[in-house]
Amino acid sequence: MSAEFEIQGIGITELAERHGTPLYVYDGDALAANFRSLRERLHPRAEIFFSLKANPNLSICALLGAQGARAEISSMTELVTARRAGIAPRDIIFLGPGKSRAELAACLDEGIYAIVCESLGELELIDELARERGVTAPVALRVNPSFSVKGSGLTMGGKPRQFGIDETVLFDQSDLAGRHANVRLMGVQVYMGTRILSEEVVAENTGRIFDLAERLSEKLGFDLDLVDFGGGFGVAYFDGERDLDQERLTTLLNPVIEEFAARHPGTRLINELGRYLTAPYGTYVSRVRYVKTSMDENFAVVDGGTNHHMAAVGIGSFVKRNFPIRLLNRTDAGETESWHVTGPLCTPNDTLGKKVQLPPLRPGDLIGVERSGAYGPTASPVHFLSHGYPAEVLVTGGRDHLVGAPEQPEDLLRRQRLYTDDAPAADAAH
Ligand SMILES: *Cc1c(COP(=O)(O)O)cnc(C)c1O
Repeated sequence: MSAEFEIQGIGITELAERHGTPLYVYDGDALAANFRSLRERLHPRAEIFFSLKANPNLSICALLGAQGARAEISSMTELVTARRAGIAPRDIIFLGPGKSRAELAACLDEGIYAIVCESLGELELIDELARERGVTAPVALRVNPSFSVKGSGLTMGGKPRQFGIDETVLFDQSDLAGRHANVRLMGVQVYMGTRILSEEVVAENTGRIFDLAERLSEKLGFDLDLVDFGGGFGVAYFDGERDLDQERLTTLLNPVIEEFAARHPGTRLINELGRYLTAPYGTYVSRVRYVKTSMDENFAVVDGGTNHHMAAVGIGSFVKRNFPIRLLNRTDAGETESWHVTGPLCTPNDTLGKKVQLPPLRPGDLIGVERSGAYGPTASPVHFLSHGYPAEVLVTGGRDHLVGAPEQPEDLLRRQRLYTDDAPAADAAH
C-alpha cells in the first residue's frame, strides 16, 4: 500500500494540502503533448480551433494557444478570454444560435476572422452593425444539413434544430450572397455532434461537409475562404467505450482533407475541438468526509459533488454510468468493495459514482474522477447550495499553478443586494 497518484512527480496529497479540496487538477504537459501529436498527424491544411465551451479556463486556453491552437468561441467572456490568452483575432471564430447585438458588435470591433451566422435574421443584424461601423463583416454560414451520420452522442444533422440554417432553406436563397451590402459570405460551417468515437464516422462526416460546402458556395455564388468541418471527437468515459485512435483517425481523415484541399488551395480548413483536447487531462479531486452504510450499502460522502461535475450524473443518458473513479492517496493491493461516492448537496442526484469498486475507504481519503478536463465546472450548477467554483490547478513542467481560485462566500454574495424598506426604488437610484 501507500503509493499515491502523482502528476509530474507532485503527489496528490501535497496538491490537495496546498490548494484545498475539492479541486480540478490539469496535467498541462500531457494536454500539450496530445495536441502536438494530433497536430503532427493531422493534415497540415487542417487548423485546430479550441472550443472554449469545453473548458474556458484562461490558462488552459493560453496553454493550447501556445501550442498553436486557435479559438472557437460563443460568448462575450469567451472572446475576452481568447484575446487575453494571446489568440490573435484572425484565429478566432464566433458561433452560437443567439448572439447578442453587443457580441456581434464586439466581433466586428475586434476584427475576428469570421462570424458563423446561424439564422437569416442574424445576417440582417450583422449587416446593420457592419454598416454602422463602415466595415464589411466576414460571415460563414452554419448549415443544418439534411443528412445525419450515426455514431455521435448528440446528432445534429437531419433534424429540426435551433442551430444553423437548414440546407434546403439556403439552397432556395440564390440571391443571399448579394443581399447585404456590408456582409461578405466567405465560408461554411457544419457541426455534426459531440462524443464521436468512430474514426470512420469522422471521415465520412468530413467528406459530406466538404461536398455540401462546395455545392452551397457554387449555388449561392461566394468564395470559400473557410470551411469549418466541425469536430466532435469523443473520448472514452464508460465501460465498453474506447478512445479514438489518432493514427487510424488521421489515416482515414487526411485523404478526405487532401482531396478537398488540393482543389481549394486558398481555403482555410477548420476543425473545432473541445472535449478531445482537454477531457483526458483533468481530474476532479475530492476528499472523503464521512463514510457510512445505509441498508447494507457503503456511502463515501466527499466534499465535492455534482455541483462541480454535473457530467458525472450521466451524459445524455437516463441510466447513470460512472466516470472512471479511483482512490488517489494510496493504492491498496487488497480487495475492493462497492461504494456510492456522494457529494455535499441535499439531493439524491448528487452522486459522483454509483456502486464503484474501491478499496475500503476512510475519512481523509482523496477520490479522483478522471477524464474530467472538459465540461466540468463550466457545465455544472456551481452555485447550487452556494458552494461556488472549485479551485483549478494546472501542472506544467513539474510545477503546480493555481489557475482558478475557489469562490468564497463573499464572491458569491457580492452581486446581491440586501433589500430594505427605506432604500430608494431601483428606478430612482439611477
Ligand atoms: C460544443 C461544440 C463544439 C465542441 O464540441 P466537443 O464535442 O467538445 O469537441 C464545437 N462546435 C460546436 C458548434 C459546438 O456546439
